Amino acid sequence: MDIIADNSHKQSPRDSVKNYRGRFAPSPTGPLHTGSLISALASYLDAKSNDGQWLLRIEDLDPPREIPGAAAAILASLRAHGLQWDEQPMWQSHRHADYQCIIDRLLKTDNAYYCTCSRSTLRTSGGIYLGHCRDQHRRPDGESSIRLYVADSHIHMADAIQGSYCQNPAAAFGDFVLRRKDLLYAYQLAVVADDEAQSITHIVRGSDLLESTPRQIYLQKLLAYTTPHYAHIPIITDANGQKFSKQTFAAPLGNNRATDNLLTALIFLQQPLPPKSIQGSVTNILEWAIEHWSLSFVPETLAITAGK
Ligand SMILES: [Zn+2]
Repeated sequence: MDIIADNSHKQSPRDSVKNYRGRFAPSPTGPLHTGSLISALASYLDAKSNDGQWLLRIEDLDPPREIPGAAAAILASLRAHGLQWDEQPMWQSHRHADYQCIIDRLLKTDNAYYCTCSRSTLRTSGGIYLGHCRDQHRRPDGESSIRLYVADSHIHMADAIQGSYCQNPAAAFGDFVLRRKDLLYAYQLAVVADDEAQSITHIVRGSDLLESTPRQIYLQKLLAYTTPHYAHIPIITDANGQKFSKQTFAAPLGNNRATDNLLTALIFLQQPLPPKSIQGSVTNILEWAIEHWSLSFVPETLAITAGK
């Protein structure tokens, strides 16, 4: 089976995008840093240059990994950088009933099943789940995760920055988890449910999520949801090729250096810079950047090493 997600928006003339709804979806595992500001700014500028809405979603799915106060710090940092969101932010921790409802639907239609495999069993298959528990449609005694049955299929997508991308999720990942043994909902499920619930039309985010996208498209098709347009911007890596992120303790952004931070992010995204005379004001920088934004200037590469 071939699934063609015709979702490129690179060539569409600016005025042809109707009712654009973009989003930024940070997880509260630390403060905003340079890499996450770049993602936030790119999605904000793409939305605003298309007269769109820019929504915020806090991905607080995994309480053990969260840092108290991080969500509030992220909101304060976005505001300090002039990135004001539309509508109320969505919190994934408030969405569990919806996620469970989708899982129940997938269980009922035999598209999902209970998995009781131990960690050591999973390790022997090299991270690809081979469908050992596929016939387990009734909840077993004891702990179990819930997996999606993934049929062999090639997902073709047209990324607005990275170009065409094709993946067979069954071969690359196998049946993936929707709800973990510890009852936490999986990111792949939550992001698909939330993009649909927020009626997101365009997703601009870091390239580290490109390989997740075919699984998300697979799930969207199964649930008869709309597939948004995707644009994956390069991520910043350190000299060792590691993602420059909260996990690598990248320094938090100084909110008092917001204008400098915005200019740094624009340089990274290879956008034209506003004239010096207006570089001292967050509002002026953003207005100028919206007016001059073009996705086609963003480098078509998965990663850029910091300092190069
Ligand atoms: Zn299993």
